[in-house]
Amino acid sequence: MSHKNLDVLRKKMDSVNVQLLELLSQRARIVQEIGQEKEKQGVPKFDPVREKSMLDDLIARNDGPFDDESIRHLFKQIFQASLKLQIEAEHKELLVSRKSQKENTVVTVGATSVGNGKPLIIAGPCSVESYDQVRKVAALLKETGITVMRGGAFKPRTSPYDFQGLGIEGLKILKEAASEFGLKTISEIVDPAHIELAGEYIDIIQIGARNMQNFELLKAAGEVRTPILLKRGLAATLDEFLHSAEYILSRGNTQVMLIERGIRTYEKATRNTLDISAVPILKLESHLPVLVDVTHSTGRKDILAPCAKAALAAGADGVMLEVHPDPATALSDAAQQLNFAEFRSFLAEVKDSGLL
Ligand code: PEP
Ligand code: MN
Repeated sequence: MSHKNLDVLRKKMDSVNVQLLELLSQRARIVQEIGQEKEKQGVPKFDPVREKSMLDDLIARNDGPFDDESIRHLFKQIFQASLKLQIEAEHKELLVSRKSQKENTVVTVGATSVGNGKPLIIAGPCSVESYDQVRKVAALLKETGITVMRGGAFKPRTSPYDFQGLGIEGLKILKEAASEFGLKTISEIVDPAHIELAGEYIDIIQIGARNMQNFELLKAAGEVRTPILLKRGLAATLDEFLHSAEYILSRGNTQVMLIERGIRTYEKATRNTLDISAVPILKLESHLPVLVDVTHSTGRKDILAPCAKAALAAGADGVMLEVHPDPATALSDAAQQLNFAEFRSFLAEVKDSGLL
């Protein structure tokens, strides 16, 4: 073969290569559209039946010179690359992900910041029961240097016959007692219709474990600019937890904090099992502040301090716990709330560790 001939043939091949590339790119764009359609319909990306039928069809049309095995191999490679394209699109970076924001999100509530390296302690009664009860707690928090007070006004109780909370009246009590002592407040909201109104009374909206996947509530929380404390569901994976936070961020509210509150396991020694590994994992995966609720995760007063220390040592941005002037008479979670003396010792022990 003369040099001239070889050059001509090579030119032809170059042109076919370009056409093949164009066709492959065209095919890839169709693959992406199919991927989006599959996503909408909730059908799996990999469809072995469809893949086999495409291969059979191609083999039936194969007149050589490539043998059937080579054709099968070549198209298998194309199918694999296409599937990868669809799966990668599905795992597009979430707004909550560290990949989309490297620096930590800092949530600001007045003069208090969460996520900037200084751990936050949130404390208060399980439920708002009366003005007198909340005022006593507020005075204790002020005295011990705590700036954020919790107190449930809408209580998600297992039994409908148990105390359900004082509702909006409870939020008003919380606000009044807190403002007297210059504290910020946090309380759980359970109804999307209350999210906007809640901003008038409380500084942080808590979304409870039982509502972690109440998507309408999450969407409503995303529409306001009040900081949100999102609790991990009783049986939620970390991936599900992060996707719930994504609902809020995707609507524009970036002031979101995550809180591990224990998960359901077979272990009976604690009320729930504190998944301490959730802390470093969430910190790695997400830029949002991560807190630990030592009261609801353990349900035990005697191990609150070591669990709080473990949480802070694992990188938590804060700890939440319950404290009540007279736990024995509390209308909810009577067994697990600290009295004032226990609260003071808890703080002293955690501070002693140098982690606070
Ligand atoms: C609470 O913090 O008041 C509460 C009800 O906790 P959880 O949603 O984690 O059970
Ligand atoms: Mn409680």
